[in-house]
Amino acid sequence: MPNKMPKEVPKKIRLPKLPARKTAQQRLAAARKGRAARLKGVKARVAGDRQAAQRDKDRELPQWTTAEIAEAFRRFAAANPTPRGELAHINPFTLLVAVVLSAQATDAGVNKATPALFRLADTPEKMIKLGEVRLRDLIKTIGLYRTKAKNVIGLSNKLIEEHGGKVPHDREALEALPGVGRKTANVVLNIAFGEPTIAVDTHIFRVGNRTGLAVGKTPLEVEMKLMAVVPEQYRLHAHHWLILHGRYVCVARRPLCEKCVIADLCKWPGKAVNSPVQIGNANK
Ligand code: SF4
Repeated sequence: MPNKMPKEVPKKIRLPKLPARKTAQQRLAAARKGRAARLKGVKARVAGDRQAAQRDKDRELPQWTTAEIAEAFRRFAAANPTPRGELAHINPFTLLVAVVLSAQATDAGVNKATPALFRLADTPEKMIKLGEVRLRDLIKTIGLYRTKAKNVIGLSNKLIEEHGGKVPHDREALEALPGVGRKTANVVLNIAFGEPTIAVDTHIFRVGNRTGLAVGKTPLEVEMKLMAVVPEQYRLHAHHWLILHGRYVCVARRPLCEKCVIADLCKWPGKAVNSPVQIGNANK
């Protein structure tokens, strides 16, 4: 007897649809919308940390392309178009004093002490009248306050004697004031006079070296490299963007790579997110 059982029709197998692989441009567009980069797995992070330790020793990181640098600053600018320094001040003189007081101290610590001080002395003449002993008392919560009080009185005297009581718009004259070095002069030139200077503090030094943006053994070396690579239109605010980035995101102990707007561009092997997007050099 012929077998009348109907033949079993094989079911059509439907494979789950795989997400299309994103191109570099798509990943970049996603990053521009502020989506967090994907965190690395534990193994990848441990391997990255090892690589980073070795790289930190050798100081060899892949070069940023011109387009990548421009993209990083475009993002900093988009996130914070008019960044401001965090040291409270009311005029160029109080800015100069605040920066001198902030050496090896935090801005927050300086800002606690300066309102009372600047209410009494916001010009070199008033500072001299206040006197070193009273000044010392007002700033005693700030580290190295004895030396700093001496310097503030010294620079106030010099401003009156040589610059008519005004803060000079001149690097050499600024650096000749007691307690004022290149970094302080750079901050004053940038904030008080709108010069496109980059003051390399501990945060910028770390960010430059860690990310590979400006690798150098000294703050001056990092400053020179940044001045050479930061596009001109971003140079005025570069100092603030990089300080804020180092202070709040690319922090020393455990950088918050998952919140970082330049995570895909950063060259640090120890970063907690996946590999950088390769962006072509637009200038090539
Ligand atoms: S990815 Fe991480 S290490 Fe790189 S710049 Fe951002 S926070 Fe710093």
